[in-house]
Amino acid sequence: MAVEYLCKSCRGHLKVKTSIVLSASKVNSSKRGLIFLNPEIGNYTTTTHPSFKIEEGVEYIYTCPICHSQLNSAKYNHLVRIIMIDDEGKEFNIYFSGIAGEKCTYKIRGTRVEKKGPDSDLYDKYFDVPEEDRKYL
Ligand SMILES: [Zn+2]
Repeated sequence: MAVEYLCKSCRGHLKVKTSIVLSASKVNSSKRGLIFLNPEIGNYTTTTHPSFKIEEGVEYIYTCPICHSQLNSAKYNHLVRIIMIDDEGKEFNIYFSGIAGEKCTYKIRGTRVEKKGPDSDLYDKYFDVPEEDRKYL
């Protein structure tokens, strides 16, 4: 079973072939485009059409290309949430930064948080310290 990514709202499949496909627009801008994200957690390569350039440091609103729901988290400012189903059928919430260039991903199931990416300390305040790190406190 392959790892799948779903919209948090309609649960439509967002991973097509080798990319997660989302619609993106700059905050306060009507210019929209498709963005292809790498489904490998910790890989921050993105692909867009040359007419739609992602600007580093700018915050984007991500929407589901199927149901058009906004994927930016209402709970965690600057983070975007999608659902991941792993190869064992387990479901996780995946959060990544809506600010282009910030490399951080949080994979969450219940109280377990896995952090990935060089900027993952940026949003530590949102999540409890994971169980396995508590012994270092
Ligand atoms: Zn959707």
